[in-house]
Amino acid sequence: MDAVRYAKVKCQPSIVLRIIDILPTLGVDKMKKELMEILACPMCKHHPLDLRIDKQDDKEIIAGSIKCSKCGLEYPIEDGIPNMLPPEGSSD
Ligand SMILES: [Zn+2]
Repeated sequence: MDAVRYAKVKCQPSIVLRIIDILPTLGVDKMKKELMEILACPMCKHHPLDLRIDKQDDKEIIAGSIKCSKCGLEYPIEDGIPNMLPPEGSSD
């Protein structure tokens, strides 16, 4: 059972890294509305994603969430940084 879990978790960091890697490439390290134009769901590749803003300043979204309307996954934005880690990785 551990092997199965390991295999499942093992494939996730690459997904997360792909998202994180594009942020510096774009010259941004914080969540901006413009980012929604290029962000796709790491799980199902759906685009565009839905943005919910809880808190923002002039340029950045400080807190909120990014939701995929296709597979239903929701990714939190905290301190201006989108956490695109698939939710099952944090449970347990
Ligand atoms: Zn999705």
